Amino acid sequence: MAGPPVILAMALLLLGQGPERLQVTSARGTTAVELRQHPAAGALVPLGTLARALGGTVEISDEWVVLRTGTGRFRFLPGTPLVEDGTAMQMMPADTRRSGDTTWVPLAFVSQVLADPGRRGWTYSAASATLAEGPPIDVLVTRPATTSVGAEARARLPSGLRPGHRVTIDPGHGGTDPGNPGRFFPSGMTEKHVTLAVGLLVRDELERRGVKVTMTRTTDTLINLGHRAPRYCRDDCDLFVSIHVNALDPRPGYDKARGFETFFLAEARTADAARVAAMENEALRYEVEEEAEVVQGLDFILKDLQVNEFLRESARAAQLVQSHLREVHDGLDRGVKQANFAVLGTARRPAILVELGFGTNRQDAQLMTTPSGQRALATSLADAVIAYLREHERKTGTGEGGG
Ligand SMILES: [Zn+2]
Repeated sequence: MAGPPVILAMALLLLGQGPERLQVTSARGTTAVELRQHPAAGALVPLGTLARALGGTVEISDEWVVLRTGTGRFRFLPGTPLVEDGTAMQMMPADTRRSGDTTWVPLAFVSQVLADPGRRGWTYSAASATLAEGPPIDVLVTRPATTSVGAEARARLPSGLRPGHRVTIDPGHGGTDPGNPGRFFPSGMTEKHVTLAVGLLVRDELERRGVKVTMTRTTDTLINLGHRAPRYCRDDCDLFVSIHVNALDPRPGYDKARGFETFFLAEARTADAARVAAMENEALRYEVEEEAEVVQGLDFILKDLQVNEFLRESARAAQLVQSHLREVHDGLDRGVKQANFAVLGTARRPAILVELGFGTNRQDAQLMTTPSGQRALATSLADAVIAYLREHERKTGTGEGGG
């Protein structure tokens, strides 16, 4: 459907010669949005100006920049190419950037996300760099079905998944590393006991639904942080889930903080995220010196590429964990965060770290240490993993029945 002018414009975009301005046309009239050219990222759109042209708003919420328009809500994580469109995490070809008070997003957000034909809110013409309100004519044609129902039904487990998935569950800490003491835990119990108990329940729940599970530990033993992901989550592993318990150092009112949060690997973006990463990386000090692990140049680059490739999947998994925990956890939904965890840094696969709650808060501690609370947490984690795997199957067309 791309005519010659479109192809020409796309070729120019590929050469880094993006348009100088974007025209936004709606019932409110036409607005020109001046773009900025970035040598690596191409044409960047100032989000505030775009929002005004769309009749929407921009606000900063936690680490995210949120754009609200008549056709949806979009969340950007500055410093990453991630945009969350209300249902899924998408990856743009370049990062969202903040400079001063302005947030700049790649033009691809406009052309691919905002003007996604499935959304039917806006139509983008690359030839004229125009964003027009309303769907294009040709999206009214229904999409053809891509799979035969019979083939799909044959291959599926009762959970709705195809067989063959494997997930690694990593109960944090263990052995000589107790994790955080948990002020309100029953006497003798520390973080390492809670993570193991919940981790084993998650395993049982996933296996019951036909997902294979590898545990980094099933007993009270110490596994080096750097070994957990690479040794226990290899090529056939779909997701690495590290389970932990949060805590605050004593200071006035510290026992009031509660709630659950899920991290994926990236540079810490807030002081609080850095605090959690520092706390969990503390486990490194319990580790026995081993042979020096020299990181070769090429390995390092490969690792970096793989980490980037899995950023979107990891972020989405984190988001699903949060939305499922919300159903069983009466503490605060502290959201999806990013930080630099040693345990995730070595992962070659999508990887997340869940902080189930605060051991320094009475209600959270109770939820995490009672059998019913642990079961509820474990079931919702398993639900989140299943939801993630289902989405992943749909996206990749995994299995023979796919598209
Ligand atoms: Zn921990």
